[in-house]
Amino acid sequence: MENIYDVIIIGGGPGGLSAAIYAGRARMKTLLIEKAFAGGQIAITAEVENYPGSIEHESGASLTERMVAQTVRFGVEKVYETVEAVELEGPVKTVKTSEGSYQAKSVIIATGAYPRLIGCPGEKELTGKGVSYCATCDGAFFTDLEVYVVGGGDTAVEEALFLTRFARKVTIIHRRDELRAAKYLQEQARAHDKIEFMWNSVVTEVKGDGVVEAMVVENINTGERQEILADEDDGTFGVFVFVGLVPNSKLFEGTINMQDGYIITDEDMRTNMDGVYAVGDIRVKTLRQVVTAAADGAIAAIMVDKYISGH
Ligand code: NAP
Repeated sequence: MENIYDVIIIGGGPGGLSAAIYAGRARMKTLLIEKAFAGGQIAITAEVENYPGSIEHESGASLTERMVAQTVRFGVEKVYETVEAVELEGPVKTVKTSEGSYQAKSVIIATGAYPRLIGCPGEKELTGKGVSYCATCDGAFFTDLEVYVVGGGDTAVEEALFLTRFARKVTIIHRRDELRAAKYLQEQARAHDKIEFMWNSVVTEVKGDGVVEAMVVENINTGERQEILADEDDGTFGVFVFVGLVPNSKLFEGTINMQDGYIITDEDMRTNMDGVYAVGDIRVKTLRQVVTAAADGAIAAIMVDKYISGH
């Protein structure tokens, strides 16, 4: 059993990192597998202002960096590889990646979620050419230009506020006449002189030759369609899409019990399979936050310790 880990954690967002910190600290032989970069959704979040203790305009990237440093301190091994298949039955689990195969007595799934697309014509073709899903990554490209933010949740409003640092004007396009975002964010957005709203509206097409030049927006109450054109001097504008998340759970279909693509766990993060746990945004839960993902991770690691030691 020498090369068998006590626990493999799949995913390096706040849930996975927290599980890694607790598992490492419990002296479990721990491997964290992350496909791209640590942090998950918060790594591309400009500011995390509601994680307890974050009072100095901390970015998601810097919070992540500190969490990663903690995992290193507790001896967690880490690889940046894409998980391609899992075998979760029995006492020894196998996780196959693009680079090889790893075995463990238990697995913590922390694969989170990825941004949902609008799904309209032109969106895919113009991604990276005016259409973006990350204000932190692309906001600066729109300095002094106009920007449209699609969505009405926490992410949309938070990122719209961030984009005001660069853009001349930010218009939030929302499909209802009421935002879903937290009231505190709503108040800031409504009070901001650079932010405007287009209510009851959806984007039905994004147009442009190599770069976004126009967009069709439909009022869902009247059916009226309006073509928004780039200002002549600008030649382009930004379309930042924040219309929710899609769970990253394809790998586990058919083996782990799910509801609408989210993994079902009990309050100790156990799935329907022995030795397999799930934490963070991938889980069926009411509140998807850094603080709840981190709490899930801590609970799962402690439960894994009990599972392995038979207590
Ligand atoms: P969300 O809460 O699911 O909101 C998605 C928004 O997009 C909603 O306003 C929704 O409209 C709209 N929408 C969905 N599908 C659409 C479509 N096809 N076309 C147009 N609009 C569409 O997603 P999120 O804002 O990404 O947040 C995800 C989770 O992370 C949430 O639990 C959120 O609370 C959390 N989060 C927390 C913070 C924070 O606490 N600081 C920051 C970011 C995210 P409706 O409102 O009409 O459904």
